[in-house]
Amino acid sequence: MIKAKKSLGQNFLIDRNILEKITSITNIKNKTILEIGPGTGNLTSYILKKKPKKMIIIEKDNVLATNLENKFNNQLTIINDDVLNVDETILFEEKVIVFGNLPYNISTEILSKWIINLKEHFWFECLILMFQKEVADRIIAESNTSNYGRLSIICNWKLNIKKICDIKPSAFFPKPKIDSSLLIFYPKKSYVKIKDPNNLEKITRIFFNQRRKMLKKPFNQLFNGNQKVLDKLKIDLTMRPQNINLDTYYKLACEYENLRS
Ligand code: SAM
Repeated sequence: MIKAKKSLGQNFLIDRNILEKITSITNIKNKTILEIGPGTGNLTSYILKKKPKKMIIIEKDNVLATNLENKFNNQLTIINDDVLNVDETILFEEKVIVFGNLPYNISTEILSKWIINLKEHFWFECLILMFQKEVADRIIAESNTSNYGRLSIICNWKLNIKKICDIKPSAFFPKPKIDSSLLIFYPKKSYVKIKDPNNLEKITRIFFNQRRKMLKKPFNQLFNGNQKVLDKLKIDLTMRPQNINLDTYYKLACEYENLRS
């Protein structure tokens, strides 16, 4: 019997209907699959049943990685490492489908790493990821709502995101205290070209530092009160950071870069 480690966010998915649902979202047959944090291999088994061409799994826990090796020996490749240390972009020759019931404590860190490092040529076909519901709500939040913020802006820059469903704690063992949500991310065909994604991070960090305050202070800090930028992007300095829509944030990042080039 495996003892789940809280420090590694181990809540294993045991609900067969949910496992079937996750693996029916997209066609897996003959596709290349990457699974992050396979744990005891429940989702892995469901994926393998659908006959992918190739599958790689990344699991940090040494004991679980050894068990997975024994369970699936010739059917997949196991990387026993921290996903944050792995460069997924060089693992495959073709685009992959990524599955992950992510460890909640590092889920946003993993996502930011993938999105910030995304090059022109996307390395994945789609990402099918589970988050704690509260984080998923922030990822898909629209402007003018209380959940809207840095995570929504950064995640939606190059990706279209859709919620598949919410999942109750009873679907896991051990039961987490919170609800989860399953999201799917697809690469956008076109998006605003920002030269250095760190500029988008910087702008959203400074703007949302005081999310209830008016924009005047953060705008002046970054743009030195530049009226042309305000007029061009139709920004009113009495607005709050959550009133600026996604597209305007991406354009602000470009204006910031233009002023520095
Ligand atoms: N996918 C499994 C399931 O649905 O039953 C387990 C999901 S559990 C929420 C998260 C898994 O990610 C655990 O197996 C844990 O050991 C693994 N994990 C935690 N931190 C990790 C990291 N930094 N890199 C890779 N795997 C990690």
